[in-house]
Amino acid sequence: TNPTIFVITPTYARLVQKAELTRLSQTFLHVPQLHWIVVEDSPHKTPLVSDLLVKSGLTYTHLHMPTAKDRKLQENDPSWLKPRGVEQRNEGLRWLREDRRAHPGGDNQQGVVYFADDDNTYSLQIFEEMRSTERVSVWPVGLVGGMKYERPVVEGGKVVRFHTGWRPSRPFPMDMAGFAVSLKLVLANPESCFDGEAPMGFLESSFLQGLVTMDELEPKADNCSKVLVWHTRTEKPKMKREEALQAQGLGSDR
Ligand code: UDP
Ligand code: MN
Repeated sequence: TNPTIFVITPTYARLVQKAELTRLSQTFLHVPQLHWIVVEDSPHKTPLVSDLLVKSGLTYTHLHMPTAKDRKLQENDPSWLKPRGVEQRNEGLRWLREDRRAHPGGDNQQGVVYFADDDNTYSLQIFEEMRSTERVSVWPVGLVGGMKYERPVVEGGKVVRFHTGWRPSRPFPMDMAGFAVSLKLVLANPESCFDGEAPMGFLESSFLQGLVTMDELEPKADNCSKVLVWHTRTEKPKMKREEALQAQGLGSDR
């Protein structure tokens, strides 16, 4: 049978959240055997996300985990200052491990884990590429790190180095969107998680270091020659008019 793809998505309340989650959920509807684990960066589950998930038609799990206050990016901080979505991804991993423990048997160790931020752009093909992951599979990511793309460089079927604009000496100089891990490997390493204290650019490495070595990486997307996922970012909408109307008591409700 097709292994299930468990997609872990951190998300947080902001003007574009519903738009992002709508686009993402409608992509996922085209992917067979996908289980969406949505983790809100919030002290509670919000009705906006609950309603969206109920109506989505997807198989999902709805979780929440607020980012500790001192770790949270503030409104006017530059986005690189602190890692984002860390506690949420770890909460997704915790749930997955716990859920497998609670429901043992059969093929419940079979599956693939992928971390999908809510603002990226995913081709359907990337999910079919990752479905055959045995340990950790990798592929290029477009529009990231100040580059057209970053990618693992493959020679003789093996990853031998990374094409990246910055610190190629990092253990795994890859974006979150550029790899998937087999559920088996996640379960066999029950302590592995993302280290929110890792220096800038080392978040992905902090998780992968305990799981694989470079020569074990499984290159996908035609030996890492195709871009099938893009690190797109959504512009923050300007609310100048809205605020002007609000001052007159005429603003929109939501
Ligand atoms: N995120 C979050 N809390 C935050 C900021 C971001 O949960 O305070 C989520 C966000 O919804 C996304 C992921 O973490 O799924 C990565 O954030 P973002 O896309 O802003 O990071 P970037 O694209 O700048 O790396
Ligand atoms: Mn993003």
